[in-house]
Amino acid sequence: MNLPRLLRADACVIGSGAGGAVVAAELAEGGMHVIVLEEGGERSRADATGRPRDMLPRLYRDGGQVATLGRPPLLLPLGVGTGGTTFVNSGTCFRTPPDVLERWRAEHGIEALGPETFERVERALGVAEVPAALAGRNAAVIRRGAERLGWSGGYLRRNARGCQGSGVCAFGCPTGAKQHVGEVYLPRALAAGAAVVTGARAERVLPGRGANRVVAVTPGGRLEVEAEHVVVAAGAIHTPGLLARSGLGAGSGALGRHLTVHPATAVWGRFDEDVDMSRGVPQSYYVDEFASEGFVFEGIAGPPDYLAMAAPYAGDRLRELMLAHREVAQCGLMVSDTSRGRVTSALGRPLVRYDLNARDTATFRSGLERLAELMWAAGARSVVLPVSRLPELHRGDSAPLRALDMRPSDLKLMAFHPLGTARAHADPGRGVLDEHLRVHHAPGVHVADGSAVPGPLGVNPQITIMALATRLAFRLLGTPVPAAATEETETACRS
Ligand SMILES: Cc1cc2nc3c(=O)[nH]c(=O)nc-3n(C[C@H](O)[C@H](O)[C@H](O)COP(=O)(O)OP(=O)(O)OC[C@H]3O[C@@H](n4cnc5c(N)ncnc54)[C@H](O)[C@@H]3O)c2cc1C
Ligand code: SF4
Repeated sequence: MNLPRLLRADACVIGSGAGGAVVAAELAEGGMHVIVLEEGGERSRADATGRPRDMLPRLYRDGGQVATLGRPPLLLPLGVGTGGTTFVNSGTCFRTPPDVLERWRAEHGIEALGPETFERVERALGVAEVPAALAGRNAAVIRRGAERLGWSGGYLRRNARGCQGSGVCAFGCPTGAKQHVGEVYLPRALAAGAAVVTGARAERVLPGRGANRVVAVTPGGRLEVEAEHVVVAAGAIHTPGLLARSGLGAGSGALGRHLTVHPATAVWGRFDEDVDMSRGVPQSYYVDEFASEGFVFEGIAGPPDYLAMAAPYAGDRLRELMLAHREVAQCGLMVSDTSRGRVTSALGRPLVRYDLNARDTATFRSGLERLAELMWAAGARSVVLPVSRLPELHRGDSAPLRALDMRPSDLKLMAFHPLGTARAHADPGRGVLDEHLRVHHAPGVHVADGSAVPGPLGVNPQITIMALATRLAFRLLGTPVPAAATEETETACRS
């Protein structure tokens, strides 16, 4: 018989992804005894073979097949295991845009994240611009098109040290170059005395006076952790269900609602040149000329399997495209959505409903027209679109795309950035968390993951999530986030 096991800690962190690993390391280094519960297994660079078909079932939840219900259905890949989704992400690093921070302040009562917080995260992750030599020829094609049109853009900033441009970030970095949180923050947490329990799925948080209890299920039976502080960081799709099962956060009616995902798609250009998008940093060049209109482009490349999975073709047409894959360039289109989805649960699993509204459909349409224009400017002889009724354009002619009465169900979309399902708002009637990420009416229970982020960012979210987690950790420690200069002085004094 498996008896319940009870562990005690100062803080119990649920989930070891972008938010959870950061909060765990900062709390542990600040002197707290921390226990991290992670549903998935332990991941390391040694597991990463670089072969997509091996890695998808090992590193992604449900083999990468998590999908939303709605028009159109979206594939919503999520990482599971130590490092969470950062283990499989592309490494792009953007700070929260100033206009978003201002919206948080004015509309949600959330104080802006300071530069010292972003700097602390970026220093830990080694964030730097992709060198042109590593960016690959796919990025060179996107850059050429943008420059010929006079559109603004540049090489992306990423968290990688010693990157070799192997092109397989989304399937785990085999060299250990990508500085995901499992590579950087979890080892720091462990070195500072934290314990990471893998294969432990948190089922409930039971708030109490002075100490809260987390009940988890492990292969060895039930595990309970008693801690003064509980930080939920299970990600925007799983945090709402955990809070709901715990009877927490439901007061405002916001729990599980306000889901934004930055819906995304890709366009492919067929060229008379060797692009070979399997070589180079997969996500290395961006175009932000139309950010104020709600969309951006990020050149996204990868091994041939990637093209085979994403292209809107089957049978002979797919075969013909794949035989010429070295001449194909790919660029992503990401929309800052005004549509809102909802996470509920059925049979203990999250159920995600998301319908693309008319405004976002129109934004996709403009984005696709602009991206086709970029491909023509770069010299494409044809452009393959993620649009069911219009899969390919030829000879520089985008007129069929302009003439199409586009419907949401025409679009083949994915989403990589779920946010907002336990949003922060100083008003308990409008948010699940207060402005300090504490669950309203549940002292001692906090949230530090994408679910806390109120609304779309228009940029990739990992740095925002990590910066919020950093600020939360220092708040729980009762000290301000140290400025870089302070840390350097302290180090110099110690040495
Ligand atoms: C393919 C891909 C590429 C991406 N590229 C980028 C990029 O280049 N730049 C960027 O900024 N963002 C990128 N993202 C998004 C980014 O990685 C995520 O936004 C971020 O990791 C979310 O952080 P999180 O803490 O909310 O959740 P996660 O990082 O997903 O962590 C949640 C963790 O909680 C665990 N968990 C869930 N439920 C439980 C439970 N009940 N008990 C215990 N553990 C649980 C999960 O297993 C997981 O490990 C990408 C995402 C994908 C899928
Ligand atoms: S491109 Fe760089 S960061 Fe990405 S998997 Fe290859 S070596 Fe790692």
